[in-house]
Amino acid sequence: MTPFTFARATATDEALRLAAAPDARYLGGGTNLVDLMRETIERPAALVDVTALSTTIEETERGGLRIGAGVRNGTLAAHPIVRSRYPMLSRAILAGASAQIRNMATIGGNLLQRTRCTYFYDVEGSRCNKRQPGQGCDAIHGFNRIHAILGASSACVATHPSDMAVALAALDATVHLAAPGGTRTLPLTELHRLPGDHPEIETLLEPGELITAIELPALPLAAHSTYRKVRDRASYAFALISVAAAIEVRDGRVADVRLALGGVAHKPWRATQAEAALRGGPATRAAFEAAAAAELAAAQPLRDNGFKIELARRTIVAVLADLAGVDS
Ligand SMILES: Cc1cc2nc3c(=O)[nH]c(=O)nc-3n(C[C@H](O)[C@H](O)[C@H](O)COP(=O)(O)OP(=O)(O)OC[C@H]3O[C@@H](n4cnc5c(N)ncnc54)[C@H](O)[C@@H]3O)c2cc1C
Ligand code: SF4
Repeated sequence: MTPFTFARATATDEALRLAAAPDARYLGGGTNLVDLMRETIERPAALVDVTALSTTIEETERGGLRIGAGVRNGTLAAHPIVRSRYPMLSRAILAGASAQIRNMATIGGNLLQRTRCTYFYDVEGSRCNKRQPGQGCDAIHGFNRIHAILGASSACVATHPSDMAVALAALDATVHLAAPGGTRTLPLTELHRLPGDHPEIETLLEPGELITAIELPALPLAAHSTYRKVRDRASYAFALISVAAAIEVRDGRVADVRLALGGVAHKPWRATQAEAALRGGPATRAAFEAAAAAELAAAQPLRDNGFKIELARRTIVAVLADLAGVDS
């Protein structure tokens, strides 16, 4: 590991000031960043521990929930309001990592964890545009079973690994940010970027910008929601495909719906095409099939991951049918 300095911030202003140092990084639970430092993929000169900041979960005046970026993943998953009003979020978090990791990992760090593309971690042996821009991408013509089927580019076909972010995308969450110049908010769906020509730029965050909180809107529909993750092992594995969904059916028709996919793209994928196809239509298996087909029409398989298109189609249909109480 390259030598670095360490400081623990006790206030947001202090964190922003400390992070203005050259090559500084915020440190959450360290469950991803420290691994990346060991592999020498990340070489920060300074670490600013932000785990003492933003550690509360509060109901907002608008009837939603404001979750501090320093809240631990395990704490959020167990929170009674999350479990009752936003069960897809609780399930998504519990589908990730292990209890020990969830008790270390923070909300801010989970959103900014980096891809699990194996070539990205193979510092000595593989070319990777995300690690070293312009170098090339060994995944595109390599073993790409876990890689993206939507929104990829000729520079990078990696997927975003966070389960929690998929649920937050479906829930219309907002990200609260702080920088020396002031504060701002971003819709969660706009926080992460598709790879384009610059896969090394993964988010719309400015250098030194700090995530302070996530805000969930009041969304009664979300009380009837779920998260399903399909993976190679029953636990302790990243998603091949995941689906976060909420649906409200009235008189046999889809009154409202939220749908997002994980394991398919460089960012949590809000399934807007499927949602548009579903809204106002019949809540039937045939309609769910058509909606999944509409979303996946743009999917482009690589050599080894064509199975993901069928897996995504089946998982979307199964989740919607279960939530809507439609016989399979
Ligand atoms: C074995 C293993 C299995 C895992 N399985 C899963 C899984 O199945 N699903 C899943 O979703 N995740 C999984 N994870 C990933 C885990 O959830 C992440 O490592 C964790 O959520 C990152 O949170 P952290 O607080 O430890 O972040 P850190 O490692 O501390 O930081 C990650 C990044 O976030 C930045 N950062 C941290 N806080 C802030 C902030 N407030 N503002 C701005 N930047 C910030 C850091 O600078 C760094 O770039 C797994 C991890 C391991 C090690
Ligand atoms: S897919 Fe992206 S992260 Fe993986 S090797 Fe290619 S450029 Fe790197």
